[in-house]
Amino acid sequence: MNPEIYLDANATSPVLPAAASAAMAVMADGFGNPSSSHAAGLRARALRESVRACARRVLGAPEGRLTFNSGATEGIQTAVLSALVALRDARANGQPCGDLVLVGATEHKAVPESLAHWNRLLGAGLELRTLPVDTDGRHRLDVLRELAPRAALVCTMAANNETGVVSDLDGIAQVLRDTASPALWMVDCVQALGKLPLNLSASRIDYAPFSGHKLYAPKGIGMLYVRAGAPFTPLMCGGGQEQGQRSGTENMAGIAALGAVLDALERGDTFRSHAALLGCRARLVAALQDAFPGVVFNAPLEHALPTTINFSVPGLSSADVLEVFDAAGLRVSAGSACSASKTAPSHVLDAMGVPDWRGASAVRMSFGPLAEDVVIDQACARIAACARALALPLLQASPLAADGAGLVQLEHEGGAGWLLFDAAGRTCIAIDPPAALAGRTAAMVNAGGYRLLAALSTAHDGAGAGALALCAHAGQGIAGWPDGGIEARLEDGRRLSAIALGREVLVRDGGKYLFGRLQDGVLALRFAFDGSGAPVVTPGMTAQARPQTEADMELDAGAVARWLAEHPEALVVDVRCAREHAVGPLDLHGWSALNVPLARVTEHASHWLDADTRPLLFVCRSGARSVRAARTLRSLGHPRAWSLAGGLALA
Ligand code: PLP
Repeated sequence: MNPEIYLDANATSPVLPAAASAAMAVMADGFGNPSSSHAAGLRARALRESVRACARRVLGAPEGRLTFNSGATEGIQTAVLSALVALRDARANGQPCGDLVLVGATEHKAVPESLAHWNRLLGAGLELRTLPVDTDGRHRLDVLRELAPRAALVCTMAANNETGVVSDLDGIAQVLRDTASPALWMVDCVQALGKLPLNLSASRIDYAPFSGHKLYAPKGIGMLYVRAGAPFTPLMCGGGQEQGQRSGTENMAGIAALGAVLDALERGDTFRSHAALLGCRARLVAALQDAFPGVVFNAPLEHALPTTINFSVPGLSSADVLEVFDAAGLRVSAGSACSASKTAPSHVLDAMGVPDWRGASAVRMSFGPLAEDVVIDQACARIAACARALALPLLQASPLAADGAGLVQLEHEGGAGWLLFDAAGRTCIAIDPPAALAGRTAAMVNAGGYRLLAALSTAHDGAGAGALALCAHAGQGIAGWPDGGIEARLEDGRRLSAIALGREVLVRDGGKYLFGRLQDGVLALRFAFDGSGAPVVTPGMTAQARPQTEADMELDAGAVARWLAEHPEALVVDVRCAREHAVGPLDLHGWSALNVPLARVTEHASHWLDADTRPLLFVCRSGARSVRAARTLRSLGHPRAWSLAGGLALA
């Protein structure tokens, strides 16, 4: 497998070795509680205060509060609570303080969610208004100018986590000054630390949260700066630590680690210069442009952090790119890590008015200021390899099916359609193609130079919305059963209309389609499509009576080596797509694997049930696809189909 190249630093970063050592030293020897009055406590307190002093120097914050906490979400929470309590009280006392909270449209979700939560809980009664951004992702200062006199609180991040867009903080400060706005101002500085100069006490900023794990400190440590004189209400009360501003025994290992990072920032001998980082980005940008000539960058590079690139490639979804990059060992993401498991489009790109296709194709590549040239060069080479893999044709004959048609499952949200294709003759037929996948299916057909003979539906008298959409996207094909076919006989003697596909035929039997080879004019059934979405029926399959749970068919990473040793005859099947397989051939305890993408597993089911009945171990990246493959085979009667739980990621 490919060694990992981590390009997802905006989600989190590795821990600086000096930071890990500092944390270790605290845990091993300097474990005192800084509130204790004995020598061990005094040493811990001295360490905490030396880190705080360093932080003040690095952030340009000799004055104001600087408290350690668990991270930026807590810092944001504390800032929002502090501002809203003060505003609620001021409003209750009839003091003029504004009635609007302006929230940048591209803020991290922690900001609008905290505002809505505390506004409701405190009954502050403020109106939350989105401050829009322009197409470059920068705040609309004209809108701010209009609303600033009414603004009680303004929340604008220093740099965006998805696009890297750097806010015009000087411009915002100027507008607030020009309009004599009464607003408090929170600036989420999470992505700025170590990448942009900060001089907090000299600015008008009231609240600035920071997070250690975005800059080589561990997770669970952060800081909040509060301008001297700005309202403050503690979020956590108890033992009165941090001068009563944040109770709870301090995370001393985290503070020590953060201290090592801040120290390195102050010394200036560890992290790379802005110019060097711009050079790294330029090489990655050039590699992307070479690899994907149509690539579009979703934020203007001149306004973005030197460490973040957000791009879209026409014709490739974020998932397409992420899967292949991951197989190549390149860790990137589609957007913020918090929304990685959600399929909703990015609110950041939406707010910038990025066209839908670019939102659906967006990929974020981010690195940290420790980036090494040699690693950037390796990443560039892998990007080129990924582009070659992504250009591979998807409709290829299976090595197991000598001259039979291929069958691809077109799955969308539980519903399933099918694409039958004859690789030799470059013809294909779609059955129940999902409308939502019409564009992708059409691209697959056209890129392979296939002729779409028919797009059929098991309902709607032969042509449903999906069939029509597919023909429209492909610019070819007949939606519905074509005229002028041939005739096929069934075993029961009926003679029905059929279409030839290579050496096989598709027969129309009412709302059902039967596929197979004609032997002496009689159909030898291979697949039947009845619109049920379940795996099609193939001869020789017997339904499994016993219901199968996932636990019955999963092997974890610890058990798999033993299982392979006990089953030397087993067949390991990589159910990732052919593109992932091409860039990241599977290496599982020295076993090589046959690549049968999940969408093609049904096509091979009868082979594994009748011709080659060896035990099967399905593997994929995360275990999600392989367990579905195992479930399919088990439900068709294969007793020895297994999945590698957790996938290659854990193996
Ligand atoms: N703000 C921004 C801009 C971020 O990128 C993140 C992390 O993704 C956060 C806030 C939340 O930080 P934490 O994980 O420390 O709570």
